[in-house]
Amino acid sequence: MDIQLLTQVEKQSIGERQPLPERYLRLADDEMDARIAAAKRALGKRLVILGHHYQRDEVIKFADFVGDSLKLSRAAAAQTSAEFIVFCGVHFMAESADILRSPGQTVILPDLAAGCSMADMAAGDQLAMTWRELLEMGFDLNSIVPVTYINSSAAIKASVGEHDGVVCTSSNAAKIMTWALSHERADGTRADRLLMLPDEHLGRNTGYKLGIPLDRMAVWDPNEHWGGLTPETIERARLILWKGHCSVHTRFNVAQIEAFRKRYPAGKVIAHPECTFEVVQAADLSGSTEHIIETVKGSPKGSIWAVATEIHLVNRLAQQVAPDRTVVTLDPFGCLCSTMFRVSPNHLLWVLEGLLEGQVYNQIAVPDGTKRWAKLALDRMLEIR
Ligand code: SF4
Repeated sequence: MDIQLLTQVEKQSIGERQPLPERYLRLADDEMDARIAAAKRALGKRLVILGHHYQRDEVIKFADFVGDSLKLSRAAAAQTSAEFIVFCGVHFMAESADILRSPGQTVILPDLAAGCSMADMAAGDQLAMTWRELLEMGFDLNSIVPVTYINSSAAIKASVGEHDGVVCTSSNAAKIMTWALSHERADGTRADRLLMLPDEHLGRNTGYKLGIPLDRMAVWDPNEHWGGLTPETIERARLILWKGHCSVHTRFNVAQIEAFRKRYPAGKVIAHPECTFEVVQAADLSGSTEHIIETVKGSPKGSIWAVATEIHLVNRLAQQVAPDRTVVTLDPFGCLCSTMFRVSPNHLLWVLEGLLEGQVYNQIAVPDGTKRWAKLALDRMLEIR
C-alpha cells in the first residue's frame, strides 16, 4: 500500500521552511525538474549531490549518492574533487560532511530549517554539564567512554572526541559499542561503562543485542540534576543511556505489529533500532535503513513485509520490490520525518542556480576548534571496520 504524500502537510509546514525568493515559488514540477537537471549538468564534476533515504522522491532523483548516514559519510569523505557538496538531508549530516570534506570544498544544505529533533535533544552545554556532574558524583571520567550516534551536533561529536570516544551509526552501532568497551587506551586502561547519546532506544536495543541486561542500563536525563540518578545506579550500570529519542520512529507500537500479523499471518516485521525496545523485541528483525533495504530485496518472492521506518523509504522500497514482494508501512498513517521533508526541490534549485551565479547559499561551516575533535571521533568510526 502506498501512502500518498501529503499535500496538506506540505502546505502546513511551508511556513517553517527557510524563505525563498518569490521567483522560486509556485514553479511547475516540469520546469523545476528541467532547471535542476540543467544546473546539475552545467556544474558537472564541480558538484556532488548526496541524498538520504528519507528524502522525498522529487529531490532524491537528483542525488549522485543515496544512502544512510554511514554510507553518505563515506561518500562525502571520498568526493575529494567536487568543489561543492550539496547535502539533501538534515543539519547534522551536512555538518559531518563539512568535518570530513577535503580542503577547498564547500558543503551546502538546501534548507537551513532541516534539522533533527533527536539531535536537538543533546546540546553541547548539556554534555559539558554531564561531565561536571559525573565528576561531582565521584566518577573518574576515564572510566566512562562516550559513543554518540551520528545524529548529533558537531559540538556533541567534538566533546565525545575530546573524551576519547567515537561516533556510531545505526549500521555499525554494535561493532562500535563493542570496540568502545574493549578498547585499550594508551595508558593501558579500559572504560568500565559506556555513555550512549543522544538516542536511548538505539543504545538500549544495541546493548541488549550485545548481551547487556536491562538492569545494567540506566537512563541519564540531562534536564535533571545528576541525570536523575544516584552514584550507586551509575556504578552498577554498564550502559548509560542519554534520554533522547526520534519522534518519527517512536510512533511505531506493538499494537500495530499485532494488527499487521492478524492481517498477514505469513508476513514479517522489520524495524529500525530507533524504535522502542518493545517494538524491536516484537518485530521479527531489526536493523539500519541499509539493512532493511538489503533484507527485503533479498527475501524470497512472495514475501510480505511491514517496515517500521520513515515513509519515503518504505514507499520507494515497496515500488522497487513489487510485484514479487509486498511492503507496507507498519504505521497505517505513515511516519514522515517532517524535518527531512523540508528540503524541497525549490530549495535545491535555488542553491544550484545560486552556484551558477557565483553565490553560495546555506554553506555549513563547522568552526575549526569544534571540527578538530569531532573529526577525531568520526575518523575513529570510519577506521573501525
Ligand atoms: S527520522 Fe528521526 S532521527 Fe532521523 S532525521 Fe528525522 S527526526 Fe532525526
